[in-house]
Amino acid sequence: MARIVMKFGGTSVADLDRIRNVAGLVEDEIRAGHEVAVVVSAMSGETNRLVAFVDALAGDSLDGDDIEDEHDVVVASGEQVTSGLLTIALRRRGLKARSWLGWQIPLRTDFAYSKARISGIQSPNMDASLKDGVVGVCAGFQGLTADDRISTLGRGGSDTSAVALAVALKADRCDIYTDVDGIYTTDPRIVPDAVRLNKISFEEMLELASLGAKVLQTRSVELAMNNNLPIRVLTSMAGAGAHNPGTIVCNEEENMEERVVSGVAYSRDEAQITLLRLADRPGIVARITRAMSEANIIVDMIVQGISSKDDVANMTFTVGKRDVEKALATLEASRADIGFEAIKYDDKVSKVSIVGIGMRSHTGVAQTMFEALAERNINVKVIATSEIKISVLIDAEYTELAVRALHGAFGLNKA
Ligand code: ADP
Ligand code: ASP
Ligand code: MG
Repeated sequence: MARIVMKFGGTSVADLDRIRNVAGLVEDEIRAGHEVAVVVSAMSGETNRLVAFVDALAGDSLDGDDIEDEHDVVVASGEQVTSGLLTIALRRRGLKARSWLGWQIPLRTDFAYSKARISGIQSPNMDASLKDGVVGVCAGFQGLTADDRISTLGRGGSDTSAVALAVALKADRCDIYTDVDGIYTTDPRIVPDAVRLNKISFEEMLELASLGAKVLQTRSVELAMNNNLPIRVLTSMAGAGAHNPGTIVCNEEENMEERVVSGVAYSRDEAQITLLRLADRPGIVARITRAMSEANIIVDMIVQGISSKDDVANMTFTVGKRDVEKALATLEASRADIGFEAIKYDDKVSKVSIVGIGMRSHTGVAQTMFEALAERNINVKVIATSEIKISVLIDAEYTELAVRALHGAFGLNKA
């Protein structure tokens, strides 16, 4: 007998038939003698619908600080519906089941509404209930702050709910069911000949997720890595009993290094800001990054071009698309302190990245990447690298072309 956490994303619970199908998958595990906690997302499209309600009512206040707590009350509700519905479907199959909302578990978080981080889960009641053979159907995405307000974990956050619960409940397995049958060498919706990987290391998955592969929320991978809990990603669409190996996300193993590049990721959620004619002296970059971090804006790729004639420089950096207005307003407000002549921005850019632990021990990877882009006449605006990834910022209109070109250049369709 094992204890299993099974997570089902939005498309897996998109309608009542899908919910019945999920109930069948849960029943299989129960009949095999396991204890099961399930984590569900809202029905697909539902969270977007709820966010749109909030946006429409809240108007165009720059950062919405005065409504962020109630934003979470509204958007968390989608998961309440699916946890109740799946519980009903399970009971109709003759199984013992109950729903658990975030506040009932409770899953405690910090106060960062709409992107809250989990601070702790202690759930002796759920533990006892699982031991009694009652399936625990948890609403993903939801949390509770220290002063008992509803919080949410950021888009895709049910993945993180699932991993955190698996750790807290000392589960033997954490299975993430979704609409694709595993982790692919790149998004299979963009590159039809992308290949499913049998295994991928935590580190590579962490990079792919944070660089835009939304199949797993970045924090869920971080949490799994820190607790050395392998995650299995698999499809809920195959039907009960079908051969469904999925992909195991786990610690690096020796044979994984044979692949130089494991995957290609892309993110359209990018905007590029350039400050023109900045003073080229120590402390200026720190002033910019301080202004951004005080406004809660994450700065990603940074590049500075120095003029040889006078002591001025241009600096380009990227922020998330939804932060661009706030970033521009913040920079304007600090213009005197930072000291620059003009600002330009472009939100029709995207970031394309290659990721692989094999890059640590192979040379020539950057060259292959840049040649593949050059052959398609794709101009590189900004470059960022780490030990196991190279990212480039390009015109958004070439995103798919670049992803396909890189996927081919590294032979990933034969992975
Ligand atoms: P869920 O609703 O189950 O949480 P998501 O939509 O969040 O599912 O994530 C699954 C989607 O992630 C897939 O449909 C696929 O388009 C996308 N995706 C992006 N990159 C990858 C990748 N490397 N491997 C598999 N899926 C990927
Ligand atoms: N329902 C939330 C979202 O759409 C959380 C999730 O699906 O993981 O982002
Ligand atoms: Mg998801």
